Amino acid sequence: MSAKAPTIGVVSLGCPKALVDSERIITRLRSEGYQLSGSYEGADLVVVNTCGFLDSAKAESLDAIGEAIAENGKVIVTGCLGKEESLIREAHPKVLEVTGPHQYEAVVGAVHTHLPQVHDPKIDLVPEGGFRLTPRHYAYLKISEGCNNRCTFCIIPSIRGDLVSRPANAVLKEAESLVKAGVKELLVISQDTSAYGVDVKYAESKWKDRMVRAKFYDLCKELGELGAWVRLHYVYPYPHVDEVVGLMAEGKILPYLDIPFQHASPSVLKAMRRPANQDKVLDRIKAWRKICPDLTIRSSFIVGFPGETEDDFETLLDFIEEAEIDRAGVFKYENVEGAPSRDLPGHVDQDDVNDRYDRFMEVQTTLAHQRLQSMIGKTVDAICDGWDEDAEAYAFRTKADAPEIDGVTYVDSDDEIAEGAILKLEILGGEGHEMVGAVVDD
Ligand code: SF4
Repeated sequence: MSAKAPTIGVVSLGCPKALVDSERIITRLRSEGYQLSGSYEGADLVVVNTCGFLDSAKAESLDAIGEAIAENGKVIVTGCLGKEESLIREAHPKVLEVTGPHQYEAVVGAVHTHLPQVHDPKIDLVPEGGFRLTPRHYAYLKISEGCNNRCTFCIIPSIRGDLVSRPANAVLKEAESLVKAGVKELLVISQDTSAYGVDVKYAESKWKDRMVRAKFYDLCKELGELGAWVRLHYVYPYPHVDEVVGLMAEGKILPYLDIPFQHASPSVLKAMRRPANQDKVLDRIKAWRKICPDLTIRSSFIVGFPGETEDDFETLLDFIEEAEIDRAGVFKYENVEGAPSRDLPGHVDQDDVNDRYDRFMEVQTTLAHQRLQSMIGKTVDAICDGWDEDAEAYAFRTKADAPEIDGVTYVDSDDEIAEGAILKLEILGGEGHEMVGAVVDD
């Protein structure tokens, strides 16, 4: 028999915007299987969505919180008055958690913490790991929306707005559910992963028996405890990435960094408004490789950006060689509608753009070949992505290969190998971005 679903009461005060916020919170909780109650007695916990516009509205909100505590006892506060947490806590010290306006994730995260929903496959419409379009054994984990940078070729901030980080406990809960549902590899994504938590001043949230800051290192450390491969995408080479490379050296997360450098010439980076100084970046990469010799760096670059000279382009080629960028994607500059770079002087002739693209690919192919040769004879851990009909072999990925964008290792085997199985492979050979390997018995 199914256990009774946890039940929430919602008190909604204030303007129509606050009402819409309440509706969003209710919709989300209902979709997760929580029940709603119209009375304090029928609820296991009460969410009070407050208003803080006028002094009279603040007083009304504080009264409503007091009533909910007296009648029910378990109360989470959200909404406009949430900005004045000390005022609420002074008046009502028993309040479980306080979140601000439009913080749906934080409210829902607080409900999860204080009234956990037990997944029941017989009645829940949504599977424990949510609906996913990726195969069962890997999943993307989005840790924030938007971006605080203003790169001149990019219109994402104008579409998605500034950085909005998810609370650490919401990210960790989703990650844990995915792992419980069979995910073996978590791919951490955002527009700027290393900036995680800057917008919320690294706010702490309760996870299990401890408080976890919404900070890049802290989140990676906790994700590393879940027993899945953790791969980081869209990381910028800020100094605090160093300590995360330490976690890679300890084997807590995968020794893999996807860093979209975009260019290497200081003048092009300036015109792109990228926050980086290339000398320091080279030093940083060298220091990372000392900390974690197995580190794989993937990056993407743009050739033919307005103002890019032949010298700038040569600087870029030197950089990918000197920095030993393991995997490099390259794009030809495009004049995106609405991007500030359209108005920059010195647009590069399309023939030159095409020529630079080809030359980049040549260098990149040579580097990839050298890297592949250095892998032959090595034994590495690899995850099985299933049977590949075209290759008539099992497709695997090593720790150095992200799905969709990096290479594959093909394995011929008479034994059936399950998707998501992590096995030891000996690398026998290969070409381009594809390797051939054989399963090594432990
Ligand atoms: S390119 Fe990336 S970092 Fe730059 S503004 Fe766009 S989303 Fe932000």
